[in-house]
Amino acid sequence: MVRVKEVKNILTVDVEESFHRNDLHLSRQQRELMGGRVIEQTERLVALLKAAGQRGTFFVLGEVAEKYPALVRMLGEDGFELGLHSYCHRLVYEQGEEEFRRETQAAKTMLEEMGGREVVGFRAPSWSITQKSLWALRILADMGFQYDSSILPARAYLGGIPWSNPLIHRRAEAEIIEVPPSIIKIGRFRLPFSGGLYLRTLPYGFIRYCITRLNKKGVPAVIYLHPWELDTDLPRIGVGWKGRYALYHNLDTVQPKVEQLLKEFSFAPVCEALGDANFLCGP
Ligand SMILES: [Zn+2]
Repeated sequence: MVRVKEVKNILTVDVEESFHRNDLHLSRQQRELMGGRVIEQTERLVALLKAAGQRGTFFVLGEVAEKYPALVRMLGEDGFELGLHSYCHRLVYEQGEEEFRRETQAAKTMLEEMGGREVVGFRAPSWSITQKSLWALRILADMGFQYDSSILPARAYLGGIPWSNPLIHRRAEAEIIEVPPSIIKIGRFRLPFSGGLYLRTLPYGFIRYCITRLNKKGVPAVIYLHPWELDTDLPRIGVGWKGRYALYHNLDTVQPKVEQLLKEFSFAPVCEALGDANFLCGP
């Protein structure tokens, strides 16, 4: 059995505003009210990581980078790995192949110019690389991405491939490594636990149990966070009960859970963890 503290888990952050959620259809006025908070929210998360001496990968949305280049520079200067979270948070399977290629390439180039180094990791919005959009992996590999972290190996509202390999693996479609968000198997059921609404809803003790169970087998957990989910002052807007749940449920539990995770487990950016596992990752 592997000692839990010796396993480097993978910490990832999707840098976006709360209104980028694909399951909400907000008015322009509502988006304006919810927006403009991503710098402060990201700085809060960065401060927690720094205080705990931990590092991670920040998948930045192209739109956010375009509006706040200083945020990208700050993340790069602080030594965090930069990845791309698409250009404007559109679901991959709703895009044509050429459109996806064009938007992704433009955002990758922009992020690389701002961050001053190559960007080799990609995460799609809402786990939208699904069975019908696996073509995206070939395009990502062509563009020089070395890994993707967009396939949720479970069923979810907008994405996921429930039968996909839940461990880090090389894909058959292209020269690219897949880094799936973690799930736990309970009988035949696969439950995501490691981020987003799952992390907000599930009790900390259960999340700790899931990570420990993986780590004892030598498997790193892949955690994903959104800076806005630590924002307990997120402006309240009228969005119906489903929207309220998606946006506001248990926001006050996220920061204490993250602090506890950072205290109890070791975390690394994706490239470092892949390097340790003898998967190539550069530059
Ligand atoms: Zn996102």
